Amino acid sequence: MNAVIPLRTEPGCSDAPVLRERGQREVFCGLTGIVWLHRKIQDAFFLVVGSRTCAHLIQSAAGVMIFAEPRFATAILDERDLAGLADANEELDRVVQRLLQRRPDIRTLFLVGSCPSEVIKLDLSRAAERLSRQFMPQVRVLNWSGSGIETTFTQGEDACLAALVPTLAADDAPALLVAGALPDIVEDQLARLLREIGLPRVAFLPARRSDAMPAVGAGTRVLLAQPFLGDTLRALEQRGAQRIAAPFPIGVEGTTAWLAAAAAAFGIPAARVLQVSAAARQRAQQALVRQREALEGRSVFFFPDSQLELPIARFLARELGMTLTEVGTPYLHRELLAEELAWLPAGTTLSEGQDVDRQLERCRATRADLTVCGLGLANPLEAEGLSTKWAIELVFSPIHGYEQAADLAELFVRPLRRRALLAA
Ligand code: SF4
Repeated sequence: MNAVIPLRTEPGCSDAPVLRERGQREVFCGLTGIVWLHRKIQDAFFLVVGSRTCAHLIQSAAGVMIFAEPRFATAILDERDLAGLADANEELDRVVQRLLQRRPDIRTLFLVGSCPSEVIKLDLSRAAERLSRQFMPQVRVLNWSGSGIETTFTQGEDACLAALVPTLAADDAPALLVAGALPDIVEDQLARLLREIGLPRVAFLPARRSDAMPAVGAGTRVLLAQPFLGDTLRALEQRGAQRIAAPFPIGVEGTTAWLAAAAAAFGIPAARVLQVSAAARQRAQQALVRQREALEGRSVFFFPDSQLELPIARFLARELGMTLTEVGTPYLHRELLAEELAWLPAGTTLSEGQDVDRQLERCRATRADLTVCGLGLANPLEAEGLSTKWAIELVFSPIHGYEQAADLAELFVRPLRRRALLAA
């Protein structure tokens, strides 16, 4: 495995101590994942079973779609449901019936649990089974939870993909499965590179359509495109698949090592990867020169938010010369992030989980040139004279792969430029 390009060449932060925080958190809930998942799976519908608050969250995060029929909605649990006076299952069946009659294009319907549905213990897995029996083969009904009780917002995607895994067809033939929702344009670029390298069969989870979901089995090697897919990986492993250890395809270095790890898993030499990726690598490196001038030597502090913190911090440190003060992440999955930890500069402060007040104290004491944080913290910190970057923008923007490396760097340059203009 990875014999050709050694991924771990230095200890970095592999054995670094991690500050574990358990306190008040400031993050969006897993429902947020619907914003990018409904764009990705084009014949799926996401029906949140929740409150008006849940409906407002999704509506404001996704924006109002004027020209297209929306592919998400909220079945609102009202006071009678919450008080147990109405049969929420009967109402849910009626809502689903009406929805599927009106929308014959839907092939997968996700019932998405929320805090209110969990509080009244509405069993959406049984509801999904019952409704699937009624509407298969036309529509498959699945469920997952986006509840904010225990999650951070990228866990919504993990829960959704994990729910899909048991429905995938079985196939033991050797194949590469890239797991993680990527914008179509990024997926197309990476798929092209993987095919040119010579990978025999390449598929992506999720696929763009329900009838094109990949198969899985003993010959499947899984390459994660996102670091927050622990449950999805476990579900794939239960189906016989094996993970390819790799850093994530963020930045030039990460993308090259990610491609090389996939190639090595199929016995393809690293020289082939370097040959196929040469033009894209050169373009990306040239594009990064300007951003490196703006970012080199500047310091950055990460609040825990998207779970993308480690790969992005590694990119900022190694390819753009930034100094990492604290890198916080909601969950630190050591196995999935082993290659990233090895690449982080030794001495970086790592924290897992959140105690927002204590973290704010450390952030104020550090006064880094740039603070990456959630929307709720950004304005108060800006008012205190700190430059901030909204972490959620890193999830909503195409950031993976060679062609996006400079765009990702630019997201960090912009707040510094804005503050410099304000100060001028
Ligand atoms: S699922 Fe929970 S945290 Fe998320 S919007 Fe609904 S009530 Fe709020």
